[in-house]
Amino acid sequence: MQDLETELRKIRDEVVNCKKCSLYEERIKSGFYPVIGEGNHQAKIMFVGEAPGLQEAKTGRPFCGASGKILDELLGSVSIKRENVYITNILKDRPPENRDPQKEEIKTCIPYLERQIEVIKPEVICPLGRYAMEFLMEKFGLKNLIEPISKIHGKVFETKTLFQNIKIIPFYHPAVATYNPNMKEILKKDFQILKKSK
Ligand code: URA
Repeated sequence: MQDLETELRKIRDEVVNCKKCSLYEERIKSGFYPVIGEGNHQAKIMFVGEAPGLQEAKTGRPFCGASGKILDELLGSVSIKRENVYITNILKDRPPENRDPQKEEIKTCIPYLERQIEVIKPEVICPLGRYAMEFLMEKFGLKNLIEPISKIHGKVFETKTLFQNIKIIPFYHPAVATYNPNMKEILKKDFQILKKSK
């Protein structure tokens, strides 16, 4: 338990001081914060988004803007408390103008997420959107099963790590529901599967 907290603090400090890609300069120039992750350090369920948006970079909290409101609603729809899950992103810093993450940025930042997964040891990891889905399915030996998110959203992929069985359940990114309200219903339907993993 203490090791867990020590390691998470270490990850936080390393991210705060990380200058390995140009997003660090953007952060400093804009007076933004890195967004490391938040929630229960022993969560059964971990959500992984793409990268912080403007609101997130201003506060240092993941999913606290428009997409976060949708995520909160989705969690509420299956009676899961936000404080019982862990929420983080592939990238810990905001790409300027919310552009897509670049390959090099993902490669540089991903070890932080890998360590977060190793210490928190969630039973279920829910990638939110394509970037997180592709990375996580590849990481957990599911590369051959990768299809467009429109085909595999809400599906459960069971796999194994050295220490435990783990489920990967990809969802559409909640941002899709901010510009297409019909998508919220699809997301809500998909989230029902999480009732089994609470
Ligand atoms: N979108 C993401 O992918 N992550 C956030 O934290 C916020 C919006």
